[in-house]
Amino acid sequence: SLSIGIVGLPNVGKSTLFNALTKNEALAANYPFATIEPNIGVVGVPDPRLGTLTGIFNSAKTIPATVTFVDIAGIVRGASEGEGLGNQFLANIRETDAICQVIREFRDPDVTHVDGDINAARDIETINTELILADLQTLEKALPRLAKEARTNAKDKDKQQIVAAAEAAQKVLNDGRALSSGGPAAGIDLSLLRELNLLTVKPFIYVFNLDTDELADDELRAKLSELVAPSEAVFLDAKIEADLVELDEDEAMELLESMGQTESGLAQLARVGFATLGLQTYLTAGPKESRAWTIKKDATAPEAAGVIHTDFQRGFIKAEIVSFDDLVEAGSMQAAKAAGKVRMEGKDYVMHDGDVVEFRHGG
Ligand code: GDP
Repeated sequence: SLSIGIVGLPNVGKSTLFNALTKNEALAANYPFATIEPNIGVVGVPDPRLGTLTGIFNSAKTIPATVTFVDIAGIVRGASEGEGLGNQFLANIRETDAICQVIREFRDPDVTHVDGDINAARDIETINTELILADLQTLEKALPRLAKEARTNAKDKDKQQIVAAAEAAQKVLNDGRALSSGGPAAGIDLSLLRELNLLTVKPFIYVFNLDTDELADDELRAKLSELVAPSEAVFLDAKIEADLVELDEDEAMELLESMGQTESGLAQLARVGFATLGLQTYLTAGPKESRAWTIKKDATAPEAAGVIHTDFQRGFIKAEIVSFDDLVEAGSMQAAKAAGKVRMEGKDYVMHDGDVVEFRHGG
């Protein structure tokens, strides 16, 4: 499942947002670890297609795709210097797929800003600097070991390449650049450094926590988008997000629309997270359950089967596939088959978003 680490300065609304996003009792039962770790929340991705499938198949259960949010303590300037304290905080997000930076734009004078005033560009710079410093520390610590491995395995080309990549990465970071943009630009094969779990290799998503009246300010939004481009920006009001989870679906939609919004913060984050990481969803449906599964955009049918169970991938024979739209138009699986809309696809088939699938596999 997609996992997103939440970082930001203190008092920008991280906890408020995290609590709003993860207030979901129903899912917690299916993902026990989510209730053990107080800073980890597993959240269902809103997907209206699932409700439709549940209706068509009269499914007993509806199981959405999930996003795992990991909340960490606020990062302050100099966090990475404090006896590895910063790194300890950051350890929680080493395993995540993407990093979500929460940036404060709301003005509330009753909530102190650690640096005195609202300044998105400065705050982004502070956080990015700390992440860069954390990566530099990781590299500094790892390089002697990597160099030794390269010396003792002088014929192992990979080991030599890893050292070269680590040194090149150090240079990029020393220039004050994140590896996600600076690495490829400098021709570094970042996959060589995978075991180090570097933070600035991960894509960033920026969440601007705005006042309600700022949400409708297109000029401000354009300015902030530009500030973080080509990374994606999400705009929300964390306080409103906290209210949304208390409402039923219709009421929540009404509240969002009254502020000129079409999606909840969670829906925005899931959408942007999927797009940023090149992910898509396919669906399975039957009387037992209707369910959404997360796969890479270029995943083949056997790879998609592997997300359900590795045995399904190994024993893959065929996939019976109908697109969600065709299925809905036909009204039932039977009618879709009669209309010739259900295809048998083999192991080379590349999955599409919204494919409704049944896999045939051998034992
Ligand atoms: P964190 O330190 O980043 O986790 O920040 P918190 O979520 O604890 O929020 C700090 C304070 O700001 C709390 O008093 C929140 O109620 C308030 N706050 C959070 N988000 C908003 C917002 O969107 N608007 C306003 N006005 N206050 C907010």
